[in-house]
Amino acid sequence: MMLNLTDVLLDDKRIAAEAVIGLKELEFSFGSFPVEKSGPVLITVEKDEKGNLEIDGRGTVSVRIPCDRCLDDVTVPLELDFVEKVPQRAEVSPEEARRGPESEDDDISAFDPDCYLDGYNLDVDKLLLGEALLNWPSRVLCREDCKGLCPVCGQNLNHGDCGCERKALDPRMAKVLDVFSKFKEV
Ligand SMILES: [Zn+2]
Ligand SMILES: [Zn+2]
Repeated sequence: MMLNLTDVLLDDKRIAAEAVIGLKELEFSFGSFPVEKSGPVLITVEKDEKGNLEIDGRGTVSVRIPCDRCLDDVTVPLELDFVEKVPQRAEVSPEEARRGPESEDDDISAFDPDCYLDGYNLDVDKLLLGEALLNWPSRVLCREDCKGLCPVCGQNLNHGDCGCERKALDPRMAKVLDVFSKFKEV
């Protein structure tokens, strides 16, 4: 979704819009995650007294992330509440705005406004993608006491025990596995 900023940039007006993320999946270097519910996120854009652009956003985007232990999908609501200040810079000429983006570079950096500001338009998807990354949970569990996967057969232990001899793996096997992982590093 593109938000046209002409009213703000040329007429110093304030605009407010209910935005939804147009992406089916959030794609990052560490994986891609299906969007379960894409908002809405209330976005307001205005100029502050110094002429800087101020972009406020508040809302929730829900995504499916695998549980850290058992890999089952968990629906995680990412609460977005942000203020991005874009320093005033040389006015974008109308020609430049018409020409559109200079490159199709999809690298996302939430702090680089060039990635979500495109002439007179705000690329809401790219902005929200960057904000989602900033609010990414450090840990995702399907439940606090998730039992995880059996290290022997891979069964999800929340669904019942598989009967494997897992205890044998504990102290001595851990050492063997350590040796293996050292070999792997070489
Ligand atoms: Zn789990
Ligand atoms: Zn097992």
